[in-house]
Amino acid sequence: MNDIENVKSLFGNKFVVAQMAPAVRVTIGEVFGKECGINMTEELAGLLKLLGFNEVIETPFGADIVTYIEALEFLEKLKSDEGFPLFNSCCVGWREYAERRHPELRNHISKAVSPMMAAGAITKMYFSRLWNLEPEDIAVVGIMPCTLKKHETKFRMPNGLRYVDYVITTRELNEWVKKDGIELKDIKPAQPNKLTLPSMNGVIFGATGGITEAMLTTLSYLLGEKKTMSLVRENDTLREYRVDIGEYNLHVGVVFGFASLEKLLKRIESGELFHFVEVMMCPFGCVGGPGQLPTGIDCIKKRAEGLRSTADKMRSKSPVESPSIKNVEEFIKSNLSLFTFSD
Ligand code: SF4
Repeated sequence: MNDIENVKSLFGNKFVVAQMAPAVRVTIGEVFGKECGINMTEELAGLLKLLGFNEVIETPFGADIVTYIEALEFLEKLKSDEGFPLFNSCCVGWREYAERRHPELRNHISKAVSPMMAAGAITKMYFSRLWNLEPEDIAVVGIMPCTLKKHETKFRMPNGLRYVDYVITTRELNEWVKKDGIELKDIKPAQPNKLTLPSMNGVIFGATGGITEAMLTTLSYLLGEKKTMSLVRENDTLREYRVDIGEYNLHVGVVFGFASLEKLLKRIESGELFHFVEVMMCPFGCVGGPGQLPTGIDCIKKRAEGLRSTADKMRSKSPVESPSIKNVEEFIKSNLSLFTFSD
């Protein structure tokens, strides 16, 4: 299913907001013949404006919201010392696989919605007021590395509106650029909306280990230690770490691909204690997603490295200290059902 024409039909009828996933910014350069892994955040935002979007926001800001919620959920488990492991919920491929193959894990998967959904909710339900619009005047389009993200457009908020209306993959964006004959020199670089400036933790989400790094760093910030947990920045398909945060000695697993996941699950089933496990379906995480431009392993690794160095440049390290999150913190706390899956 290709949604380019669907999105074009929104222009002029709705206030159309594009949200940019982390992985796409280190891939879009390939559309214009650049090396793999170059960060082109501003060029991507400029391109989306040129294509007709009214506003461009950061999906990593949604990842910051999700990290914050997930870290609080994890802290509750640590305090009560039960319910381990906690698995991430942000990978739609993993969630759908778990639903079909491992329904017994249901209560172990975080309740947080995906970063794309969180960014959609905040746009329609909070930014709409700042922009003097009604939520229903806004359409949100995810610019994503993931074909499966299209499945998430089925989810609706309690008021019946969709979190996200359409998803355009990197491949579709490439097709759109080629059809319109756009070259890099035609693009005026632009900043995504400053209210959605993400932290390092939000940007790192798109590469393997990113969710774990974000979770552990945010936990450390919540406990007042402010440690950056970048020890998880490796690329093996299955890895594990022991880390000390506050009074807790944690055993965490990071895995991508379901063959490695099954190996890890066998260990958990046989009684081994893992406190947190990150699962991503795709090679090296979303940078190797099914909606990305097809390429080889070396290029995907460069995208992961490009994303990690982009994350390192962010001023805030964790959502706990991010001014963009502080702005919306009260709204999130009083509308938690918008940002969590119901049972
Ligand atoms: S890891 Fe793959 S399936 Fe999972 S959200 Fe990322 S791109 Fe989609």
